[in-house]
Amino acid sequence: MINVPEMFGNMVFSDKVMRERLPKEVYKSLTKTIEMGKTIDPSIADCVASAMKEWAIEKGATHYTHWFQPLTGVTAEKHDSFISPIGSGNVIMEFSGKELIKGESDASSFPSGGLRATFEARGYTAWDPASYAFVKDGSLYIPTAFCSYTGESLDNKTPLLRSMDAVSEQALRILRLFGDETATRVYSTIGAEQEYFLVDKKLYNKRKDLIYTGRTLFGAPAPKGQEMEDHYYGTLKTRVSAFMHDLEQTLWALGIVAKTKHNEAAPSQHELAPVFVSSNLAVDQNVLMMECMKKTAEKYGLVCLLHEKPFKGVNGSGKHNNWSLSTDTGKNLMNPGETPEENAQFMLILAATVKVVDKYAELLRLSIASAANDHRLGAHEAPPAIVSMFVGDDLEAIITSIIDGTAYRKTKDGMMNLRVPSLPVFKKDNTDRNRTSPFAFTGNKFEFRMPGSSQNVAAPNIVLNTALSEVLGEFADKLEKSKDFDVTVKKLIKDTLKNHSRVIFNGNGYSEEWEKEAERRGLPNLKKAVDAYACYDDRKNIELFEKSGVMSRTEILSRQEILYENYAKTLNIEALTMIEMAKRDYIPAIEKYLLTLSETAKNKIAVSPDIDISVEKNLLYKLSNTVKDIFAVTGELEIKISEADATVSATEKAFYFCKNIIPVMEKLRQLVDCAETMTDSAVWPVPSYGELTYYTE
Ligand code: ADP
Ligand code: MG
Repeated sequence: MINVPEMFGNMVFSDKVMRERLPKEVYKSLTKTIEMGKTIDPSIADCVASAMKEWAIEKGATHYTHWFQPLTGVTAEKHDSFISPIGSGNVIMEFSGKELIKGESDASSFPSGGLRATFEARGYTAWDPASYAFVKDGSLYIPTAFCSYTGESLDNKTPLLRSMDAVSEQALRILRLFGDETATRVYSTIGAEQEYFLVDKKLYNKRKDLIYTGRTLFGAPAPKGQEMEDHYYGTLKTRVSAFMHDLEQTLWALGIVAKTKHNEAAPSQHELAPVFVSSNLAVDQNVLMMECMKKTAEKYGLVCLLHEKPFKGVNGSGKHNNWSLSTDTGKNLMNPGETPEENAQFMLILAATVKVVDKYAELLRLSIASAANDHRLGAHEAPPAIVSMFVGDDLEAIITSIIDGTAYRKTKDGMMNLRVPSLPVFKKDNTDRNRTSPFAFTGNKFEFRMPGSSQNVAAPNIVLNTALSEVLGEFADKLEKSKDFDVTVKKLIKDTLKNHSRVIFNGNGYSEEWEKEAERRGLPNLKKAVDAYACYDDRKNIELFEKSGVMSRTEILSRQEILYENYAKTLNIEALTMIEMAKRDYIPAIEKYLLTLSETAKNKIAVSPDIDISVEKNLLYKLSNTVKDIFAVTGELEIKISEADATVSATEKAFYFCKNIIPVMEKLRQLVDCAETMTDSAVWPVPSYGELTYYTE
């Protein structure tokens, strides 16, 4: 039997452990830092470090590491042992407050987006007490923020923490205006639903594209895709089930509440959803979860693919970002209650969010833009590249009545009666699901569905929190000055909804009509990641971040540069992998089959000159032409890459890849995929789509 309550959080230096192991005063002071976002009192650091070390050693740790999230998209860690020599060949285990609070690392080896030229190579990691330390693989992991010598953030955590402070401050002003005197902090919360694929490790190892790029760059579709809709929620295969079971236990020990697991739409695609926690912790837990998924998969001879689009023709993977705001007293600010039409505070928060999504649509789009996610967005499987908002019928009716000044009448009683007496009658959710909307209100939270499966969700949440803090701040300014609070609130809600309701769309986001309608409404439609990146330094965006103190202009420009760089690097690796595979795997394989065909034809004629060789002839003709084209397009791709190399800026290079190289890559893929359908499977050098997605026993 697994005793879940006992094992849960077993490897975490959690609140419970701290309460048990720290002196009362130290515990109190640390809790204040954690809960209120107050600066840590350095005098307690030694005491905390010592308790942490003792606890970690009991859990089998010999090392500690500052664990951070540089802008590479993966986490970074450097392990130091607790060992310290004390002479005559003896050692003791040591860990000081100084080592806990601050670490030093060579920042020049991490992306800095041009900051490098102006700053010292030195970078610092700083302990984030608000995210719990934990023990994994014999090391004590200390979550940290990462910044340059000159104080610019070089990670995801720093601006996220700043944005959480910003939104808390402004939301509290609003709460006070509505008479809430008890809340002292407002937390933004995230529940990140993680999609992923599992493939067999032995098959994976035969695919250079999966190894180098995380996705298949070639591959003809299998005879069966996801059209039977039999994989979604389907029974778990034995090996997959064992993997999930193991993973869950690892995550539980790390204090992550892995809650739901199920098969997803595409064959061999799955999803894991944790229970939401405060944003900072949720981001750390999500990156930790992704690492654990990869490691656990290996134990079962599987590889976990977190890429946004591992396979063409079937759904890619996203990461739904469920987002809300809660007070430290346990009130969810996005909960409409039974009668939202009478809940002015909720309607004000809703109006503010509508404004956020409308005013900062470009920022939201760019916060999740990557070369990989471009394969999903707007591809009739994930939300379109147009950022719109779904609020459901009831809220839309309320919004319309507010804007038009008409009375609101509830449309239905909200009860579900299945008309089978033995089945219960239950209350339906406030909103139906609209899977095509990028930003959906789902009862008491918003679900941002554009993030990609491999992405760090800090980026979109930095935008959401910061933008909401700006709008709530504007509202608070007006309300604090107003003489008649009720009148001002009503007017504020009405005006805001009126000015920004163009972003609300409850229909089918995948349809062509919506694209036209969105254009008519003046909503941005940034189809490619690079188009989105270009908006980062728009004046309104720089003003937003600078005014709130979440990011400086320098930080924004450096992040923009990194986005362009990453985009170009990703595509460069993909293009080079395609060339390698075409020249060294596909062309030789096709030639081998051509040889077999021509020898077969020759042998047949030797037996009897009038024997029918039309099959060989036909195939020889078609395949020879295709392989000739493959060779030519590979050459074309090589030339284009050398042209890209000649570009001078990161921006120019990224746009060059987008406009001039992707089309050639697509052309090459089409030719190879076509050749695959005509070539003997025994000589084909890589496992097919069918094998990859259906053979996970
Ligand atoms: P579904 O989207 O499948 O209907 P749920 O409603 O159970 O699923 O929630 C999906 C995710 O949203 C879960 O990770 C859940 O923890 C998270 N979630 C629920 N409430 C909140 C909240 N107030 N803030 C942030 N995330 C939340
Ligand atoms: Mg969801």
